[in-house]
Amino acid sequence: MTMLKELYDTAAIQKLDTAHYLHPFTDHRTLGEQGARVMVRGEGIYLWDSEGNQILDGMSGLWCVNVGYGRKSISDAVYRQMETLPFYNSFFNTTNVPAVLLANKLAAISPPQFQHVYFTNSGSEANDTNVRMARRYWDVLGYSERHTIISRHNAYHGSTMAGASLGGMPDMHAQGGLPIPCIVHIGQPDYRTAGRGMSEDEFGIEAASWLEQKILEVGADKVAAFIGEPVQGAGGVIIPPATYWPEIQRICDKYGILLIADEVICGFGRLGRWFASDLFGIRPDLITFAKGVTSGYVPLGGVLVGDRVADVLIGQGGEFQHGFTYSGHPVACAAALENIRILEEEQLVERVAADTGPYLKQRFADLAHHPLVGDADSCGLVAGLDLVRRKGGNRHEHTAFDSALGVGMVCRAHMFGNGMIMRAVGDRMIISPPLVMTRTQIDDMIALIRHCLDLTQADLQQRGWL
Ligand SMILES: *Cc1c(COP(=O)(O)O)cnc(C)c1O
Repeated sequence: MTMLKELYDTAAIQKLDTAHYLHPFTDHRTLGEQGARVMVRGEGIYLWDSEGNQILDGMSGLWCVNVGYGRKSISDAVYRQMETLPFYNSFFNTTNVPAVLLANKLAAISPPQFQHVYFTNSGSEANDTNVRMARRYWDVLGYSERHTIISRHNAYHGSTMAGASLGGMPDMHAQGGLPIPCIVHIGQPDYRTAGRGMSEDEFGIEAASWLEQKILEVGADKVAAFIGEPVQGAGGVIIPPATYWPEIQRICDKYGILLIADEVICGFGRLGRWFASDLFGIRPDLITFAKGVTSGYVPLGGVLVGDRVADVLIGQGGEFQHGFTYSGHPVACAAALENIRILEEEQLVERVAADTGPYLKQRFADLAHHPLVGDADSCGLVAGLDLVRRKGGNRHEHTAFDSALGVGMVCRAHMFGNGMIMRAVGDRMIISPPLVMTRTQIDDMIALIRHCLDLTQADLQQRGWL
């Protein structure tokens, strides 16, 4: 279907946008000068803007539209639920059918230690819930000193007070006096930047040992939990060495601290498993989810609560003084149920594991032959490549660009201008495409990325940066 672009007056929408709409993570002076791109429609892996341009959405919206755009069965499910019961809360000993069915479904598709779910509206709220729940768990057991949560530099855990504190983003911490007390950070398992002189396996053990050092520094009797994304997303698609997570699990077990896996990106098939904890061989006590649970059609997040925590909270905890008006919102839960049904019916999780994930790995690795690309790697359907000024013999020998040049943003602009959404994290370019993507579409995407890399290279040469 072609876009009827005369239906949209782009300049007028941009003007109103600038006048009234404060966007997340946005410099509004720059936005006001450039004007926002107005997205008006989506179908499958493609978006259309108000000018009628077709864009391949390599980021699934914001890591979330796993089943692709335009799924009528999800909008039908939402519509039916809105007509039947648009809202009721789950306070005061009441419940609703979609929330009950979704909690049951999540217990069935998650690792066996998870039989309970706490619903929120977002990943940030879910991580706030984790902080409160982990501390409550230790309080109930009589260890009120155990309040410290250990996280990692360059982690992303959301943007509320606790979410941003758990995250390890210096720019976020710099605004508003974060982190809040009793949240501390260790280094990230990024072999490219920190693993020089070690094998990947050695580095994985080394990076995990930073957790033990921090536990001993804080005092083991003061640590409540460790939280990490199985693969860091917003930090730049950082795929840890295979040795990392099993060693983290061993250390958590040794000191009895709770392990929280933030699977907001990794869950619901992104890495070829329903939950990436299975892929990395860990047994978390709490799992954060959001994004892919509804493929972003309606906001929903939550915490999968493992038996270790659930038994204490339910058995001895009494009332947990926490909750949201919209916890277990029936419309969001109806959207999630239909989204999960689609993932199952179309075997999208299996397809990522056995077909499109390995195929993307092979095709994406080819991009490392491009003169501008240092390394290119992927895991399931997330991938990242490094833009480098000069290539070296191995991944610790490339010459980076001066980070102040903002080469990643230059590349992103060429992608965006040529119908490809690829995100820049510094000079690392990342994708997280919809799970419905076919092999042919992967070929199309790789060709488009390669073309935009060529344009970027020519541009950088012209600027004298290469
Ligand atoms: C996006 C994200 C969050 C925050 O989710 P929101 O729904 O934006 O609050 C938390 N953790 C991870 C890993 C994320 O990618």
